[in-house]
Amino acid sequence: MSQLIDGKALAAKMREQMADRVQELEKKGVTPGLAVVLVGEDPASRVYVTMKEKACAATGIYSVEHKLAAETTQQELLALVDQLNNDEKIDGILVQLPLPAHIDEGCILNAISPLKDVDGFHPFSVGCLATGNPTFRSCTPYGIMKMLESIPYDLNGKEVVVVGRSNIVGKPVALMCLAENATVTICHSRTKDLEGHVGRADVVIAAVGIPEMIKGSWIKEGAVVIDVGINRVADKKLVGDVEFDAAAARASYITPVPGGVGPMTITMLLFNTIQSASQRVAK
Ligand code: NAD
Repeated sequence: MSQLIDGKALAAKMREQMADRVQELEKKGVTPGLAVVLVGEDPASRVYVTMKEKACAATGIYSVEHKLAAETTQQELLALVDQLNNDEKIDGILVQLPLPAHIDEGCILNAISPLKDVDGFHPFSVGCLATGNPTFRSCTPYGIMKMLESIPYDLNGKEVVVVGRSNIVGKPVALMCLAENATVTICHSRTKDLEGHVGRADVVIAAVGIPEMIKGSWIKEGAVVIDVGINRVADKKLVGDVEFDAAAARASYITPVPGGVGPMTITMLLFNTIQSASQRVAK
């Protein structure tokens, strides 16, 4: 039977340490500041933004929300990003995705200063990660790496199989594992023999968005399983991308859903914001 990697507990521990770090920065006259930009009325985005703001408040980070109407133009949003890029009180800028269809997401993300790109989505940040000199690492994959660091497990030389190739999870987590000297395979919707790839993995990272598509019987005995998926099924129940009970019977370590990767994502947003503010002190 496997051991759980408890993301909720790890997140709570990290947030306590971060609150101490914020107090140290306060003594040096710097309050870390995060600007959150929400365009439109997407209910899930509203929930995420509120969670982020509450987490900031609990850690002592100053956060300011810019709530814009759904019909905001791209020019207006670019003007706000420009203003925040130049605001000395702001160390991190988060534009909540998805944006309304008439706004080019790439154009907006590119306009955020790489010095304040705490979501790690700017091509500069992605390029730095790819070339082995990371600046800001995107929050979900960074949280996964912190979870892997929290267990007695060395990625060096291990076979990591990432299922999913999105820009926010699959690709960056693959690069992060590569930087830890793992041998990394990225599987996606066109992959042939997914079961075969998963079956030889020492570490499986599932980021697909299909409830329980990775079968427990595919998991190699003793493998580490990181389940990024958050899928709402009948009776509002949340399940991951991995068939939990059957996978837990074979894995050495496994993350639960909920309470696994989810709480780590916001934690790493706070972490990146504090990192950015620390650079302000260093100047
Ligand atoms: P996405 O839809 O952008 O990407 C899904 C990926 O899965 C694609 O690359 C696709 O190629 C791959 N895929 C689809 N069908 C497949 C199949 N049959 N076999 C193999 N690969 C297949 O999704 P995403 O944004 O990366 O999110 C993935 C999941 O992770 C979702 O459930 C999402 O809710 C969750 N998520 C959780 C967090 C968190 O904080 N815990 C953060 C981001 C995403």
